[in-house]
Amino acid sequence: MAIIVQKFGGSSVADAECVKNVARLAIAEHEKGKQVVVVVSAMGKTTDNLLNLARQITDVPDPREIDMLISTGEQISIAMLAIAIQSMGVPARSFTGPQVGIITDNAHRKAKIVRINDEKIRRELNKGEIVIVAGFQGTTLDNEVTTLGRGGSDTTAIALAAVLEAEVCDIYTDVDGVYTADPRIVPNARKLKRITYDEMLELASLGAKVLHSRSVEIGKNYNVPIHVRSSFDNIPGTMVVKEIKEMEDIVVSGVAYNRNEAKISLLGVPDKPGVAASLFGTLGERNIVVDMIIQNVGADELNDITFTVSKDDLDEALIVAEAAAKELGAKNVVHDRSIAKVSVVGVGMKSHSGVAATMFRALAKNKINIGMISTSEIKISCVIKETDVDRAVQAIHKEFELAEIQHE
Ligand code: ASP
Ligand code: MG
Repeated sequence: MAIIVQKFGGSSVADAECVKNVARLAIAEHEKGKQVVVVVSAMGKTTDNLLNLARQITDVPDPREIDMLISTGEQISIAMLAIAIQSMGVPARSFTGPQVGIITDNAHRKAKIVRINDEKIRRELNKGEIVIVAGFQGTTLDNEVTTLGRGGSDTTAIALAAVLEAEVCDIYTDVDGVYTADPRIVPNARKLKRITYDEMLELASLGAKVLHSRSVEIGKNYNVPIHVRSSFDNIPGTMVVKEIKEMEDIVVSGVAYNRNEAKISLLGVPDKPGVAASLFGTLGERNIVVDMIIQNVGADELNDITFTVSKDDLDEALIVAEAAAKELGAKNVVHDRSIAKVSVVGVGMKSHSGVAATMFRALAKNKINIGMISTSEIKISCVIKETDVDRAVQAIHKEFELAEIQHE
């Protein structure tokens, strides 16, 4: 029997009515004869509320205890959904991540799934039940509860779809697909029918909030068909797939932005081997992801090293940077919270030139200053002032004529 995995985000299960709606969507697939696994996030803003609760006590709570705290959010929604499905006369059962054998490493608050023991889920499915699994959480081999990082329920769902060899992983959310840009900023943004894993991966890590980037990585590695769609409108969304032939002609698929960026500079760092290794080594040990890095070669054998991290990691990264600055004999550490990143993404960039120039022109016309630039095979990112984000996204979307291009 074909297995399908459905994932519902916090807004899709925000209250009891929403939960009933989700129950009906799960039952509809069950009635088509599918074996259904449903992964849910915490109801509405539950996770934020729980984090705020801890913050009322301290700014530096123990990550292990935070995982104990925030993993409760998903436990509420799985039970609510099981109650709803059962009340509609269909057998269902809810499980926490640890109960169904989602094994992670022990990096609290950003754990990675290392293995899933799927026997229990398969056993339950074979009884004819709808299986409901709490997103975002797992357990270490030592039975410690972990969470997978904000938005991690997507990762739970796509990893389950991979091990269960599901025919599709439906990601139900409050938007009806992936757009050429955030429609709240660019009203004439277009919905894409399809997008490649690589592009989606870039978009996700660039801050398009549609999918958790680790989830796309897993989808890509295991070739899981992912359907991003709305839980409120029954219309086709966007399929995330391996490759799209006709898209070779399309240079840019979308524009993304991320306001959650901050910048740290170490000024006057002595120019000698090992400096970067020591600084970025320590950041890595602390699980702080560094995005862009720039080194300016200054006079007198002194360099400036600037890098970006997410705003959430800024405080911790600053502690590391200050310590490194002292050890390396750097002159000063400065930081800036008010930056953001805009990016263009497209597999077509591999075979087209002038893409960077078009992007820079769009920013220049609008007098938006570029602080840092980074590129990959299929994306170009610029660091700009946070207050320039909306104008930048609109200008770039227009310059590449993304509202007009039509493709299958
Ligand atoms: N509830 C978690 C969060 O808000 C996980 C998720 O929504 O995917 O980050
Ligand atoms: Mg969420």
